Amino acid sequence: MACRCSICTSSDERDRRLRSAIMITHDDRNVVIDSGPDFRQQMLREDVRTIEGIVFTHEHKDHIAGLDDVRAFNFINNWRAQVYCTEQVGGALKREFAYAFSDKKYPGVPEIDLNIIDSGDFAVGELTFTPIQVYHLHLPVFGYRVGRFAYITDANVIPEEEFEKLKGLDVLVLNALRREKHPSHFTLEEAVALAQRIGAKQTWFTHISHQLGLHEDVETELPEGMHLAYDGLRLEVAL
Ligand SMILES: [Zn+2]
Ligand SMILES: [Zn+2]
Ligand SMILES: [Zn+2]
Repeated sequence: MACRCSICTSSDERDRRLRSAIMITHDDRNVVIDSGPDFRQQMLREDVRTIEGIVFTHEHKDHIAGLDDVRAFNFINNWRAQVYCTEQVGGALKREFAYAFSDKKYPGVPEIDLNIIDSGDFAVGELTFTPIQVYHLHLPVFGYRVGRFAYITDANVIPEEEFEKLKGLDVLVLNALRREKHPSHFTLEEAVALAQRIGAKQTWFTHISHQLGLHEDVETELPEGMHLAYDGLRLEVAL
């Protein structure tokens, strides 16, 4: 908001970014990872009619703020939102959306079931999620592996022991915020080095700041098999 830099005023649609989130569609069933402030807009844009589960990476506002809007899916599908998150993230959701978890509920508040997860694998419908423990400065964040796909947002540390879970990937989505050092996000240079180490067939960078540069320019300098993700991007992945 309010920025007039060349990225924020670019006419290239790929430079117009909503907050980071993804949706995995499998057999016409949809699992969303994170529901940030743009959740409603993203669901409308993609014409999503049903959701099977919402999996959270961490409790920062840009990843949880849109959860209230599950009300539409509550009403239309008679579905209680099935949320999958750690105890810590669940605590944050109860604080942020206290009205949805109170004993005396106001009519029409979001209907949410918290499914508390830990570092072990868990299932959402037919999909198996493997949490990958990463850190965002000191804050624990979960990346997730599903089949030969992995999604790691909001991190600047991947502990050595977690690399085992990132072997044999077809597609990796990895956080690359900008070029300058940042206390809690990977820079582009750090993300490229990590992507090379992990060795997925394709790596797509996400959670990109306007400070990174124009999509078109950055794209040309990336090594083979690495790309900048953009809103609305769809990837097909074998499970
Ligand atoms: Zn800008
Ligand atoms: Zn964050
Ligand atoms: Zn974030």
